[in-house]
Amino acid sequence: MSHQLDPRDGPRDECGVFGVYAPENDVARLAYFALYALQHRGQESAGIASVQGGHVMTQRDLGLVSQVFNEQSLRALQGEMAIGHVRYSTTGSSAWENAQPVHRSDRRELALAHNGNLINAVELHGRLRDAGVAFRSTSDSEIIAALLSTHPAGRVEDAIADVMPRLQGAYSTVVMTRDAVVAFRDPAGLRPLCLGRLGERYCVASESCALDIIGAELLREVEPGELVSIGERGIETRQVVAGARRAFCIFEHIYFARPDSRLEDNRIHVSRRKMGEILWREAPVEADVVIPVPDSGNPGAAGYSKASGIPQDDGLIKNRYVARTFIQPGQELRRHGLRMKFNPMPEVVAGKRLVVVDDSIVRGNTTRQIVQMLRDAGAAEVHMRICAPPIRHPCHYGIDMSTREEMVAHGRSVEEIAAELGCDSLAYLSLKGVYEAIRSTRETHCDACFTGEYPLEDTAGKANGKYALEGELPLVRA
Ligand code: SF4
Repeated sequence: MSHQLDPRDGPRDECGVFGVYAPENDVARLAYFALYALQHRGQESAGIASVQGGHVMTQRDLGLVSQVFNEQSLRALQGEMAIGHVRYSTTGSSAWENAQPVHRSDRRELALAHNGNLINAVELHGRLRDAGVAFRSTSDSEIIAALLSTHPAGRVEDAIADVMPRLQGAYSTVVMTRDAVVAFRDPAGLRPLCLGRLGERYCVASESCALDIIGAELLREVEPGELVSIGERGIETRQVVAGARRAFCIFEHIYFARPDSRLEDNRIHVSRRKMGEILWREAPVEADVVIPVPDSGNPGAAGYSKASGIPQDDGLIKNRYVARTFIQPGQELRRHGLRMKFNPMPEVVAGKRLVVVDDSIVRGNTTRQIVQMLRDAGAAEVHMRICAPPIRHPCHYGIDMSTREEMVAHGRSVEEIAAELGCDSLAYLSLKGVYEAIRSTRETHCDACFTGEYPLEDTAGKANGKYALEGELPLVRA
């Protein structure tokens, strides 16, 4: 396993979506700020589409929100409504085409932003191609856009209601036509989507932190299987698919969502702190200082420190400006490894028995380097405490978790992982502990990356079919 800085050493491939109908506001600017708040969900491309006078205008490009848009481009996106998207994407020539929002005008013109992954994408793509539908990108998001754009129903709401039962997998989606912004969420509710009010108007976003930044009030989450249409006549909702098993992604609580967002009646920061408290109860250790792996380990470390009475300090300083940028470090710089991202504080760690708290471990490269770095800085003992169970299975619902073989917990016991990472002890939070922290149960969540129990029928079979085709048809996830 590589010991080099690996930009993919963590779960990837999230996306963030936003939509607003507010003719009296600068909608493109609202979308811009909302995407800014959702930047943590995707840093490789960003896009906004708006509608003015019946015309859909789209601007999207590779880069951060602040790199893709400037004052001039936002002014060009005036209109009555707008949708936006941030994403991680595959690299290579198809990366730009796969940036969103997707724009299509078959029978009806629309723009679409999607967060999730369809597990029956290949099947749907094949049927559409057989029907003569052409594609510009290889994203499953364009499949949804094509199904809706070619649909004969008069109203897009009816088209969505007809198409939703045919889509399998995760889809928190926002579609914009000339008349309305329509949000809809898969029947399991795998990825988040919430509804907000902005004065007399409405908006939708992946997370509530995007509502806060534009001064909108969080009303509620879009229900799994629900369609919410916002337009000149206000709001119209429809429960298209009812009674499906709910399966909200537990990893949103553990890692993806921003700490200041609210999900399922929990403030993320508070539940993550609770995870740290429970972790102390489950896996105490004698130590001198608790240090977080910033920033994702901060609330867990605060909880561990509070529950144990062991003081917390900043033993690792993070350079907040290291992102997946276009300039990758060369070989020489790579040898300096993680110091580009984290630097230890010898004054805090030297001679100390450390508890190091992080949210999760996927491949383990980062953790291994952190442990070594802390030892080099003089730490007497390094005890890793992780606020999630071991990740042993891939995600088929929109998150790139690396392959099973690349996961450090694959085929290893906790003791073996500790040896692999070079720490004195290692403990993971139990799944029960995670659910206690979010005050909920397994019955309404997906935790397949920990347990291998996929909540949607035949996930592995369908998804494997998809991977088998990826060579000739490189579908990418949103
Ligand atoms: S497999 Fe893991 S990351 Fe994927 S949806 Fe389920 S809980 Fe979330």
